Amino acid sequence: MHNPYKDAVTQLELVAKRLATEYEDKKRFAAAVAVLKKPERLLEGKIEITLDSGKKQAFQVFRSQHSSARGPYKGGIRFHPGVSKEEVQALSLWMSWKTAAVDIPYGGAKGGIIVDPKKLSKSELEKLSRAYVRFLGTAVGPWIDVPAPDVNTTPQIMAWMVDEYQAMLNETNTAHLQNPLASFTGKPLELGGSQGREEATGLGGVYILEELAKKLNWKRKQDITIAIQGFGNVGYWFAYHADTAGYKVVAVSDSKSGIYVPEGLDPVRTLECKKETGQIGACACNEKECNVSLGTKLSNEALLELDVDVLVPAALENVITAENAKNIKAKTIIEMANGPTTPEADEILAKRDIRVIPDILANAGGVSTSYFEWVQNLSGYSWSKAEVLAKLQPLMATAFEGIWSVYAQEKTTVRLAAYQVAVKRVIDALYLRGRV
Ligand code: NAD
Repeated sequence: MHNPYKDAVTQLELVAKRLATEYEDKKRFAAAVAVLKKPERLLEGKIEITLDSGKKQAFQVFRSQHSSARGPYKGGIRFHPGVSKEEVQALSLWMSWKTAAVDIPYGGAKGGIIVDPKKLSKSELEKLSRAYVRFLGTAVGPWIDVPAPDVNTTPQIMAWMVDEYQAMLNETNTAHLQNPLASFTGKPLELGGSQGREEATGLGGVYILEELAKKLNWKRKQDITIAIQGFGNVGYWFAYHADTAGYKVVAVSDSKSGIYVPEGLDPVRTLECKKETGQIGACACNEKECNVSLGTKLSNEALLELDVDVLVPAALENVITAENAKNIKAKTIIEMANGPTTPEADEILAKRDIRVIPDILANAGGVSTSYFEWVQNLSGYSWSKAEVLAKLQPLMATAFEGIWSVYAQEKTTVRLAAYQVAVKRVIDALYLRGRV
């Protein structure tokens, strides 16, 4: 079976080879790399809840705390039947690289529960969320590990988790020592969430697009065509902000199908239509049952192979594979989903001179705004949306600039450059702490 943790370690080894020349003491460097191959702490166990039927059910749960070298652990919690120890560990390594790539003072972590949340009632989901917090106990907290939403976990779930965390602090009379709201991010606005968080990942990706446009000397934005796979939170906000900035978004899709509008589509109208009809494909005019006429229907596979300037996978992992990489016509790929390109596809794309802006940079606007949320909670202050976005833009632009200069200097891929910058930051922190 495919082991994502092995992939993450192989990737680290590859980057370490490139970084090795920068460190004199080879033994010490090797020790640092060895430390980073394993999470510092892996929590795993079973939690049990009473279902609405009165029956008890146990669930396998994990939290992988990979690195605290640069600050408290940071990373989402995933509720999915496909969660595994290997996946959680791999994702925790990637979180360490992501927080380092954009230089926010966090380490990396990831949590998960093997569960199909769609099979649980709301009250069962609440019990599961609260039981998970009890399982984590003092292993999380504002200065230790700050979890957030991931696949199938929502602001509501974060609200229950914060509440349970606060209840635990009350039981030990320690709630006065820290603001419990700073224990989780991605919370509802009414409960310490941050303005701008909802659109931050998509918008952060567009900030990266804007920086790229400067480097590539794109003169007329309206001539730059973009196809986006996925029209959920990330895909929609990327489309919205790219369109607002003047780029031409020509195709978007959801899990069923997509729509192609060569002259450029209107993301707001497309979202309205998707809400009305249930799927984007139904908004195309070559559909028999079509009642809205926004463009031509196309499949998800066809969207990936469209002749556009920029391709934006914003749905799932492993959608650009060894099979379709040779057919991709876009010259630039901006990875808004996590892990949309397989390692084999990555090699093919590099050989074909297709530039891939990697997920750890492109979609880091989300975790960066989570960081702003935590800062607001810790200071007991709440920023306006304009204040949040005014901080996000330079953060993304600075991260891009640092990675781009390594990319240009070393004539490597943007992905390897991003990893080089990120892993170096983590290793340097390990050195400074004297941990190796
Ligand atoms: P979402 O659930 O809001 O949206 C997912 C979209 O993908 C939906 O439009 C869905 O219809 C579509 N989709 C599902 N299966 C598909 C398929 N087979 N082909 C094409 N489209 C398909 O999720 P999201 O929050 O937008 O996250 C999307 C990706 O971005 C994920 O990889 C996620 O890990 C990553 N990401 C999200 C954030 C965030 O802040 N939400 C931050 C960083 C990374």
